[in-house]
Amino acid sequence: MTDAVIYVLLVDDDLAHALLARRACFKNSPSCRLTHVTNGEACLKRLTSEHFDVVLLDYSLPYQNGLEVLAQIQKLESPPPVILVTGHGDERIAVEAMKLGAFDYLVKSVDLSHFEMMPWAIQRAVEQHRVQIERQRLEAQLIQSERFAAIGQLASHVAHEIRNPLSSIGLNMDLLADEIAYGPEINVPEAQELLRAIRIELERVNDIVSEYLAFARLPRFEFEMESLNTVIQAFCKFVEPQLHQAKVILKTDLDPNLPHTLLDPEQIHRILHNFLKNAIEAMAQGGEFAIETRVESDRIILRISDTGQGIPPSDLQRIYDPFFTTKKGGTGLGLPLAQEIIKQHQGTIRCDSVLGQGTQFTITHPIQDKETNGQREGEKVIN
Ligand code: ADP
Ligand code: MG
Repeated sequence: MTDAVIYVLLVDDDLAHALLARRACFKNSPSCRLTHVTNGEACLKRLTSEHFDVVLLDYSLPYQNGLEVLAQIQKLESPPPVILVTGHGDERIAVEAMKLGAFDYLVKSVDLSHFEMMPWAIQRAVEQHRVQIERQRLEAQLIQSERFAAIGQLASHVAHEIRNPLSSIGLNMDLLADEIAYGPEINVPEAQELLRAIRIELERVNDIVSEYLAFARLPRFEFEMESLNTVIQAFCKFVEPQLHQAKVILKTDLDPNLPHTLLDPEQIHRILHNFLKNAIEAMAQGGEFAIETRVESDRIILRISDTGQGIPPSDLQRIYDPFFTTKKGGTGLGLPLAQEIIKQHQGTIRCDSVLGQGTQFTITHPIQDKETNGQREGEKVIN
């Protein structure tokens, strides 16, 4: 056994038993410091004010039994491991204790052999608990460092993306300044052309910043009972001019029997927009963009397809990776954001694509109502 001091809290109203426990622990592990209390209330009081490495908790206690005390210990902020000591034939209680989060149990035996097991059970509980705490600490550290790495990556992508439009704006402004300073008189059409170029680049900077922000600060979700068809119809109306300009024909095939379900219309609109943007970008010469809804048992199926250039099989695995893009000036954030929003709706997404023919995204969404998922309506997920 190691020499590190082990602080044990023994909860037992049987004084003889407590004495034997103390003796057994000390004999095998002189570095054991045992504190003895006789009931659950005293146990909880000590645990909230002092550090203990392990609790040896007897089942039969006055006022509250060991399981009740165990349940309260588990509610503490960082509970120490608990070993429940039950009477002979009380195995069912031991099972219950394990379910409640006890680390281990010892069954009292008439020949008192459980006292021999006690120091080993204590040692095992302390060691495993330390390993578990260390693992949790490392995991938290990893998440934190991954978060920092992601922030760094995001910042450098934003900087990179913005630099081009900014330098183009600077160049156009210099030309405009020359025009004003040196020209005998200002060439109005040329100046207007330069201003138009500046406006386009500014819009591009704005788009980049909005897209990155949307990704970095995941939206607040506000779920409500709504029909997906209604959201799609509103979306289609909204994007009519955009479709016309891109020479894209929109086809919808919406299931009239689609039930209302819990969804966030604004976020659904956002992902539809991301899909459409990608489709338009994949159909340089125009093409077809189709939205279809179906009900299949307890799920709603949403299919979004285009007749664009398609995605090579080698890229299919990577399209949801943040920053993965095959486009000049792409951010690689549209699909990861769509995937996250679908996840928040408890849905799944799948992509099928044939090079040169087109791409289809299939989204499944479980039908949820207020009764089964009451807690989600109006729920706000703040990130
Ligand atoms: P971005 O559009 O900024 O590149 P996305 O996350 O929206 O980022 O898409 C990632 C990549 O997935 C795209 O660069 C493209 O290669 C591919 N992709 C997504 N949607 C389509 C589509 N409808 N057709 C062809 N390729 C697509
Ligand atoms: Mg995109």
